[in-house]
Amino acid sequence: MNRPHSLYIHIPFCHKLCDYCDFTKLQYFRKFAIPYLDALEKELKQYDIGMLQTIYVGGGTPTALDDDLFEKLLKIIHRYSIGAYEYTIEANPESLSESKIKLLKKYGVNRVSIGVQSTDEKVLKAINREHNYEDVKTAIRLLQQYGIDNINVDLILGLPHSSKSLLIKDLDNLTSLGIRHISCYALTIHPHTVLYNQGYKELEGDEMRELYDTVNNYLAKKDFDHYEVSNWAKNDGVSYSAHNINYWANMEYYGCGLGAAGYIGDVRYKNTINLDKYLKGEYVEEKETLTIKDKYTYEIMLRLRCNKLGLNIQSIKEKYGVNLYDKWETIKELINEGYLVQHQGEIYPTYEGMMILDQIILKLI
Ligand code: SF4
Repeated sequence: MNRPHSLYIHIPFCHKLCDYCDFTKLQYFRKFAIPYLDALEKELKQYDIGMLQTIYVGGGTPTALDDDLFEKLLKIIHRYSIGAYEYTIEANPESLSESKIKLLKKYGVNRVSIGVQSTDEKVLKAINREHNYEDVKTAIRLLQQYGIDNINVDLILGLPHSSKSLLIKDLDNLTSLGIRHISCYALTIHPHTVLYNQGYKELEGDEMRELYDTVNNYLAKKDFDHYEVSNWAKNDGVSYSAHNINYWANMEYYGCGLGAAGYIGDVRYKNTINLDKYLKGEYVEEKETLTIKDKYTYEIMLRLRCNKLGLNIQSIKEKYGVNLYDKWETIKELINEGYLVQHQGEIYPTYEGMMILDQIILKLI
């Protein structure tokens, strides 16, 4: 059996909890983080992990750990990271200290994804973020000084007090710092979050679309390539997220840590979000054994997110027994309307297609 080439690790701790957040996260306490890392180490050892291509450590906030625990985490991962060509860690600007960056360098982390969300003070305060734009600048410059220049920043569109002009300011600020990758996500208001309880509403479709277009037009002029629904990378061939491209290619991956998801063999699984259970070694909470039809659905849903992958008509037929030519009238219509393009037996989404991806997927599955 081929073993997965990617590993996701979840570190759920944060110093401060943001008002919109629906991720698996916990207030950081050292006394919880110590046994957590022990449990994580045991969980990793349960899998027969071979040579990896990509590792992604997300959260929560991995850099929320104290320096000694952060080093312990990097030591735990070290045996798996040898040979991986992309090793990413998520960070928040205020906790990305010089001492942590030295550790990133020492243990071979070569990509950092920073949760910026906005560079405007009022917006950041409104969502209970701990950092300001000065922290962002300091963190990015320090990373670059230490030779880690493969940097992503996350932005959220539609936050309280934000506007199109503030978004342009964010893009001005961030591109002037020489970052190579930007992820922009539409704010979703999840039940039980502070913003939900405050009655804050998501933007309507047209308003959100205008913000996406603003980002896309701005970044296109700066030589960024919109290669996935929410992701733009410098058009230099080396700034795309290899780890995420593996997800979108419907490739298998190990997922370890509280609430992490993984995909191995025919099984997609999700770990518990209960810390007590996790610490007792009761890692996996849900398992879904995939049928051929499920795998086909995932393939369509994931591959069409990214215009670097494409749906190969021949390989879909061989893998899933589905002949996309049976749906050719629908596909042709989507091509004529400018939502898909066909190139040498492969189908790719256009920017317009990515904006209505859910509708396209429904037509193809
Ligand atoms: S730092 Fe990230 S994971 Fe932590 S609360 Fe904020 S958004 Fe959620």
